[in-house]
Parts: sequence; C-alpha cells; structure tokens
Amino acid sequence: MNSTQLVIALTKGRILDEVLPLFEQANIVPAENINESRKLIFDTNLENVKLMVIRGSDVPTYVQFGSADMGVVGKDLLLEYGDEGFYEPLDLKIAECRLMTAEPVGSTPVQGRLKVATKFTNIAKKYFAEQGKQIELIKLNGALELAPSMGLADSIVDIVDTGKTLVANGLEPRELIAHISSRVIVNKASMKIKNALIREILGRLREAVEKMVESR
Ligand code: AMP
Repeated sequence: MNSTQLVIALTKGRILDEVLPLFEQANIVPAENINESRKLIFDTNLENVKLMVIRGSDVPTYVQFGSADMGVVGKDLLLEYGDEGFYEPLDLKIAECRLMTAEPVGSTPVQGRLKVATKFTNIAKKYFAEQGKQIELIKLNGALELAPSMGLADSIVDIVDTGKTLVANGLEPRELIAHISSRVIVNKASMKIKNALIREILGRLREAVEKMVESR
C-alpha cells in the first residue's frame, strides 16, 4: 500500500446512512453515489483518501491487518469480536442504540437455567457470568425476536433502538448491557506511518461530531 494513500473501511447498511452525512460535514465525500453502485471501493474528493464499504464484522479484520488504515464500526461488534489490535480514538455518536436483554411481555423470572438466544454470544456469556447467572446459550444469526415465542429461548440479547421490533414480537426490554454507537478504529502501524494524514482526518471528523451534537 502506498504510504500516502489512506483507506477507510465503512460498514454497509444502516450505519452508512448516518456515516456519509458526517463524512460530508468533514469534507470527505465519495466521488460517486455509494448506494447506487456495486463497487466496494471508492475514490473521494481527497486525492489520497479512499473509502471501502464492507460488512461491519469484517471492518475490524481489515483494520487490524492494515488492509484498511481506518474503519468505522459499531461498538457492539467491537465488544463481541474484540477491540484489541487497533486504536479506538473517536466516538462518532451515530447509530446509537442499546444492547439489552428482552423477554416476553409480563413474563416472570425463569426458575433454573435461563435459555438465551443471541448472535452476540461472547457479550452474553460475559454479561450473565458477571451477574452470576447460569445460562444455556443458543446462537442465532438473525430474527432473534422469534426465539421466545417459538419456545426456543426464554430471553434474547439484541440491539434495541426505538424498541418497535421488540413490541411487534410481544417482547419487552429488561436489562441494559451496554450503550452502543459507531467508533473510528485505526491500524496501529498506520497511526505511526501515516500520522499526519490520520490526525487530519480524525480532526475533521471530531469537529463534524461536535457540530452534529450541538445541532441535536
Ligand atoms: P428498533 O425496532 O428500532 O428497536 O430496531 C431494532 C433492530 O434494528 C435490531 O434488531 C437491530 O438489528 C437493528 N438496529 C437498530 N439500530 C442498530 C444499530 N445502530 N446497529 C445495528 N443494528 C441496529
């Protein structure tokens, strides 16, 4: 990789819709419409900065191994897959949500071992161990909200934003595990080798976050 080139990995989907306006405020603008393209890597208005758009769970991997210098990723994924091997210098305060346990509305505490369905198995394991609760973990990859009504689990651990998904599935939020937002992560070697450029980008993003927070 050219040492004057900087690659920033962004997360596809919902987070991208909040990241792009913030990047625009920081005057980092893709050269074409990311949502209308099938490309995965984009030039920007800055000659030496490129944006990659990949799955959130792949962002830490690209950044850790230096194929991307920087990345934007949800704290949920950092908590689940580990946040070592790179720096985490900035909270973008976007895509804010909560990681929570949820159970059927009005359900009473389960006697004995709780069955918990989630895709966040590491987070759930750690959380319930800290609570001193014995659980049986059931790994699912999506549609967690179905698990309790189908008799697969007593409780789920999932991301809650407005809470509408829970309500629509007869569930209610119970315990807060963590507040989540999108974070900027930086490859450790890049931070040294491309320090001036990375500090410039971090400075612009920090200012954009401050402006956004002020206008809320
Ligand atoms: P809600 O119905 O608004 O509570 O949204 C909950 C669903 O949207 C969850 O099942 C999540 O999968 C997804 N979701 C909401 N916010 C985020 C976020 N910031 N990051 C990832 N997924 C999210």
